[in-house]
Formats: sequence, structure tokens, C-alpha cells
Amino acid sequence: MPRLSLDDPVTAITGVDKAYRERLDHVGVKTVRDLLLYFPRRHEDFAAVTPIVGVQPGMRTTVRAEIYHIEKIFTRRKHMQIARATVSDESGTMTIVWFNQPYIAKQLHPGDQVLLAGTIELNGGLVMKNPDYERVSRDPTHAARIVPIYPETRGLTSRWLRPKILPLLWIADQFEEILPAELVKRKGLMARSAAIRQVHFPGSMESLDQARDRFAFEEVFLNQVAVQQAKRARKAHPANSIPFDEAAARAFVAALPFKLTNAQRRAAWQILTDMTRPQPMNRLLEGDVGSGKTVVAAMAMHHVAQAGFQSMLLAPTEILARQHADVVESLLRPFGIVVGMLLGSTPAAGRRSLLASVADGTVHVLVGTHALIEEDVRFEQLGLAVIDEQHRFGVEQRLSVRQGELWPHFLSMTATPIPRTLGLTLFGDLDISVLTEMPPGRLPVTTRLVSPDDRRAAYDFVRSQVIGGRQVFVICPLIQESDKLGVRSAIEEVEKLRTEVFPELAERIELLHGRMKSADKAAVMSRFQNGQAAILVSTSVVEVGIDIPNATVMMVEGADRFGLAQLHQFRGRVGRGVHESFCLLFTDVDDPETMRRLHALVTHKSGFDLAEIDLQLRGMGDLHGLRQHGHEFRMASLLDAALISDAQAEAVRLLERDPTLAGEPALRRQLAAYRRVYALD
Ligand code: ADP
Ligand code: MG
Repeated sequence: MPRLSLDDPVTAITGVDKAYRERLDHVGVKTVRDLLLYFPRRHEDFAAVTPIVGVQPGMRTTVRAEIYHIEKIFTRRKHMQIARATVSDESGTMTIVWFNQPYIAKQLHPGDQVLLAGTIELNGGLVMKNPDYERVSRDPTHAARIVPIYPETRGLTSRWLRPKILPLLWIADQFEEILPAELVKRKGLMARSAAIRQVHFPGSMESLDQARDRFAFEEVFLNQVAVQQAKRARKAHPANSIPFDEAAARAFVAALPFKLTNAQRRAAWQILTDMTRPQPMNRLLEGDVGSGKTVVAAMAMHHVAQAGFQSMLLAPTEILARQHADVVESLLRPFGIVVGMLLGSTPAAGRRSLLASVADGTVHVLVGTHALIEEDVRFEQLGLAVIDEQHRFGVEQRLSVRQGELWPHFLSMTATPIPRTLGLTLFGDLDISVLTEMPPGRLPVTTRLVSPDDRRAAYDFVRSQVIGGRQVFVICPLIQESDKLGVRSAIEEVEKLRTEVFPELAERIELLHGRMKSADKAAVMSRFQNGQAAILVSTSVVEVGIDIPNATVMMVEGADRFGLAQLHQFRGRVGRGVHESFCLLFTDVDDPETMRRLHALVTHKSGFDLAEIDLQLRGMGDLHGLRQHGHEFRMASLLDAALISDAQAEAVRLLERDPTLAGEPALRRQLAAYRRVYALD
């Protein structure tokens, strides 16, 4: 191969044409460097070469043999083209078959010495089905070694990738070490260039493990250095100090219609203390659905207003923003605090005058949706920014709240509990307050999986609840019918419920979905809030935050189509009042995997447990809107608490010694790219 360097485009590699360039581009591989960093998902150990006499059914091995006979055949019964070969070595003879790859009969010829790697089966005699194959050579690619299996992607097979990557490994030396030399030495980590070689074509399972350990450490370490740097930068940034005012805190608590839980009191205290500092708070208030986060945020906003500063409360949906505006206004108005609401749908004239009042400080608390973070929204003195359901917002959106000289204090809230390990990594720059207890008097929600046969009985139950004065949510995976057979849509469902299932209640069944006009949504919500409507058929727009204490049944259609965290959120919409509540999960799918997942909801009440289970079952992608970042952690398990706290300790140590990383230019370069991805600057 001609002289290649890591920054050459993939087309510089022999055998990579335009079509493949596009396929590689699809998985983010543009350069030789990217290709070498495109890691296998797993490996198969085909290093051992077994003489034919020694092979046994079930064995996965390489056989080295000579083709004795090879032919293409067509099976009428299965309508399949097959290449079938008889091969032999000094010890014996066996049969090889390749399904749907008849061309192999043309590629291999009697007399060829070949390596065959696959599983031995018993089928008449000993047979190897669909083995990887190649002619015998000094440096085999697909057999007689530990073989890499790359991620399954259309048009990019391991068989194609291996011979492209193997000859590139000699330039892996061009990869510079990015970890501090002292760290590599002290921890006995494999050097980066060696690890890249070993991760593709390992010399042994041990060296593969070492290579993996090295990259796992590297991934978490980079993340931790970036996170700790962000933390240092934040701590160095000025913010308004909000003095702690005990009398004000007491007055707020005394005016509440209920007593705060101990957890709420503790969280509020942590928040008020943070805000006294002249550096911006960055605190996450984490609490299961219904644990009462809103009132804690309201208490913080009350405090900020009493100190003469403004607050904003950002919500992911208009419905939730309206609800928050109502709740916050009723809590804060008695103190003379002016609450405004800004939505995407706020008419231009109203918006203009509202923005003027925000800019001159007459509005103390501004509640709203994404509309709050638009360019022209200027506060006189923003002291606190609260983001509800923070995982619904992108990093960029979260950061855009922080513009200006003085950063506001920053409080984010989530009902999707973050496993501890994740809290340390991607959210590592957050201090966390957890609401560990529920307001008193809550009855646990009974969760059931309802099979298609029990649907009628479930409807009877729903009817009895409505007759008893309660209210019901029905969630559908889609707004409108699609080609996807059998998936229920809200629009069809509402029709069916009105005409077939509950005709006597037709007037009290309402439809709510994201494509409706803002005013219509608000009207439907208010009819549901005041009890006029009894059954609300909806899509996932009710997933977050809505608080209707009289609702006692949450029916989820096509439950298999939602993640556990999301289902737990749905369930959290009920069980908020004094009545016993139920969550009914409907599904037509009955594969064991789905059943296991849904069953976790029946047996687990805690969102924290469910978040861990979701993380184990589905990976971290779906958990916190991290999908776009997920690939940064390819080797590290984000459940590996020991690894994460080790990397964190090392990152802190390094930054204490060398805050600007002046002594680690390679690490600095790598981090620049990393920090861009995570928008940490
Ligand atoms: P979430 O944490 O899911 O956002 P909310 O803030 O919406 O929960 O609170 C859920 C419900 O619990 C609301 O109706 C709220 O008024 C009520 N609530 C909050 N704190 C308490 C408390 N300490 N005692 C009784 N009810 C409470
Ligand atoms: Mg909430």
C-alpha cells in the first residue's frame, strides 16, 4: 500500500470506492483515522486449528483443509442456492455448506488449501455451515485467529472490513498517546497505538482485554476531565448571591396548603444555600414522579424574588408550562410576586408587552416553553433559571439560558432518576438533590398487563371508575392511523371509545395530541382539569408533569412501544390524589423480551430501579436523550461505578496539578473535539 497517513480520506485505501465511501460516511468514518477507530463490537476466537478427526458437534473452530470437491446446488424445497464442498485434511473428511452464497462454488476450486472458521454441526455426518473461509496464507484475516466482528450495518460487513483494516494496522503507530505518560505507566495501561492494533486483531484474549480496559479508561477519563474542567470554569464564573432569608423561607412554607416532606425541606435548604454563593449553582433536583418537585422550585423562585432578582421556569410542553404558571402563580401571588407566561403561541402584541415587563423587571417570574430562550427575551436581573424535565432539552438549549455577564443560578429537575454512575459521568458537573420520599397519603399504583382477551373486562372497570366520579387517561403510541398494522392511534381510538365502547359517555371523552392548536389543547386540558371531561385519549404529550389528582386510571395502548422510563412517567400521572389508582398496560405483542420488560413495571414501583433496568436492557441511549452522545462510550460500561470513580479521581488529580493541561498537549487537543460534542464550552 502507498504511504498512508491517518488524515487521508478512506478512498486512499485500496478497494474503497465511492459507494463504500458513502457507506462508511454513514457510520461517521471519513478518514483512515476514523476507520481505525471504528471498533469491532465483539470477537470470535477462531485461533485454534483443529484436525478434522478431532472436531465435534457444537465446536467453534478453524479447520485447515484441501477442497476435494465443490458444487453449486439448488434445493427445490427451500428454494435456496447452496454451495457445497467436501474437504479433507490428513486426518479426515467433512462437508461444508454455504446457504445463499452459490458464488463460493466459483471462488474456490478443488485442490485449494483453505481455512474454514465456523461451528460444527451433526447433520448426517459432520457439517460446517456458512463458515468464514479464505485461502491459506501467512497472515490470515477471517480464520485461524481471533476474528473481529464489526457492528452490523447495511452494506458494511465484517468480511469486507477485515481485509481493509488489517493492512492498515502498521500505521497505528501514528496514533499519539493522549493519556498522561505518568498515568499510563502507573496504571499499567496498554499504549494507545498498541491498543488500536489489539482491539481489531488481538494476539490473544488477554491482550484484547487489556486493549479494551485501556479504551474504557480513556473514554471515562476524557469525559471526567471535560466535566471537571466545566465545573472549575463554572466555579470561577460570577453569579448574583441570593442572601438566605429565614423569615422569607418560613413565610413561604407557612402559606402552603400542606406540610413539606423532609426530603423537600432538605432539597430546598441545599438550593437556598447554593444560591448564597457568588458562583452559579448547578443543581439537579431528582425525584420520582409525584414527589413534589414543583413546590421546591417555587420556593427557590420565591426566595430569588424576595431578594430582588428574577427567575425563569422552562417546561418542555405548553400544557405543562400552563400548569406550572397556574401553580406557581397561586403560590407566589400572595407575596406580591408577578408571574408571567410566555409560549410559542403567545400572540405578538401580548408577547411584546410581556417582554417589556420582563426587561424592566416588573415581571418577577417568567414561566414558559422554548420561547423563553429566544434571542430577544431579556431579563433585567435573572437570578435563577429552572428547567423542568431537563432531559427533554438538548445541551445547547440548556446552555443558552446561561448567557450574559453574570450567570443565573441553575436548577434542573427530572423525574427520570439518573443512575448514580451516569450522574457522575455525563452529568458529573451537577450537584444532586434527591427527593427520596413521597408526600404522605399516596397509595401505590396497581399495575397490570392486560391481554387482548381481558380488554372487555378492563373497559368495564374503567366504566365503573368513571361512574364513581374518577377520570381516566388513555395513551396511544400514534396520533393518526399509519400503515403500521395494529398500532392504535389516538384519533381512531377516541372514535371507537365514543361510538362503540362508552357511547353513554361520548360527550365526556376528549382527544389531545401534539398536532392540535395550542388554544384547543388548553381548552381540552381545562375541561379535563375541572372534571367536565372524564376520559382523555392522548399521545405521549401527557407524559410529563401533568397533575390531575382525580385521575385514577392510566391505560396505555401498545405499551411495548414505549420505554420503561416513559411508561413509569405515564403511570405517575395517576395515584396523585386520595383514591386508589391503576395503570393498565395493553399489548398484543407477547415475545418473552417484551413481556419481561413490561413486567418490570408490574413488580417495580421505583423509577430509580426502572431506570437501571432500562439501562441494562436497552443501553443508555434512550434514557436521557443521550442517544446522540452514546457512541462516545463504546468500551466503558456506564454501570461500572468503580471505573468511573477511579477515572474521576484521576481527572481531579491531574487538573489540580496542571489546571490548563499545559503539560498534556495531546490530551488537550483530544478534549477540544470532545468538549465540542458535549457543548461543554
Ligand atoms: P413532580 O415531582 O412529579 O413534578 P409535582 O410537583 O407535580 O410532582 O407534585 C405532585 C402533587 O403533589 C401536586 O399536586 C402537589 O401539590 C402535591 N404535593 C407536593 N408536595 C406535597 C406535600 N409535601 N404534601 C402533599 N402534597 C404535596
Ligand atoms: Mg413535575
